[in-house]
Amino acid sequence: MTDRVPLVAGNWKMNKSAVEATALVNILAQSLAARHPVCDVLVAPPFTALAAVIEALRGTDIMVAAQNVFWEDSGAFTGEVSAPMIRDLGCTHVIVGHSERRQLFGDTDTSVSKRLQACLRSDLIPIFCLGETLDQRESGSTFAVVKRQLIEGLGSVKFASPRQLILAYEPVWAIGTGLNATPSQAQEVHSALREELGTVFGAGFAQQVLILYGGSVKPDNAKSLFDCEDIDGGLIGGASLKADDFLGIIYSA
Ligand code: PEP
Repeated sequence: MTDRVPLVAGNWKMNKSAVEATALVNILAQSLAARHPVCDVLVAPPFTALAAVIEALRGTDIMVAAQNVFWEDSGAFTGEVSAPMIRDLGCTHVIVGHSERRQLFGDTDTSVSKRLQACLRSDLIPIFCLGETLDQRESGSTFAVVKRQLIEGLGSVKFASPRQLILAYEPVWAIGTGLNATPSQAQEVHSALREELGTVFGAGFAQQVLILYGGSVKPDNAKSLFDCEDIDGGLIGGASLKADDFLGIIYSA
């Protein structure tokens, strides 16, 4: 048995001013205070809105993540933001290795691994994203791709506890496209990832790690995905930008 508490996390990407972000989290906080969800809830606003959102959420249970982190702690790295800076703001989590970072900004398994290690040094929990492209799925290499991303990304990272790691399986072909993996397609990859985690860190560790699904999750498909044995909630992009949709997904968990 496991006591994994599901997590629904909203990745806002490059959307919302600080004022708009504050308005959205105020609605979420009010609604969740009135009707407690059975899952944990997290939002990942852009860097420019983090301080305002953290301030607005003070005293609530909603957690806040950054969307990326640089691997050095300080120094001459113009434009980058470090893990100690993110921790200092009050974030608890960081999204690492999102497919948009891999595809558009040159993130690789090696740089993802360095970002993961930077998170752990600063007591931040990485939400480590992995997933195959459409070509990779169609050529039958989904499992090989996600296992490689997992192993290379985790590299020699040492975890004191399974609570220090969250995985997000996000098939690239399902992100922002309106196409989502079916529950059985998602479940089989989640189960393979948990098995691989078990090989590296032991079955007890693997059973405690949250594995989120991401890719066009909406209020009307969330429940069938979240009902799967190895799917512990979701990483939600587009649908996390509207309070009603995000709350609909939260209450599906
Ligand atoms: C994401 O960007 O992590 C994501 C899952 O996006 P969407 O829900 O819009 O597909």
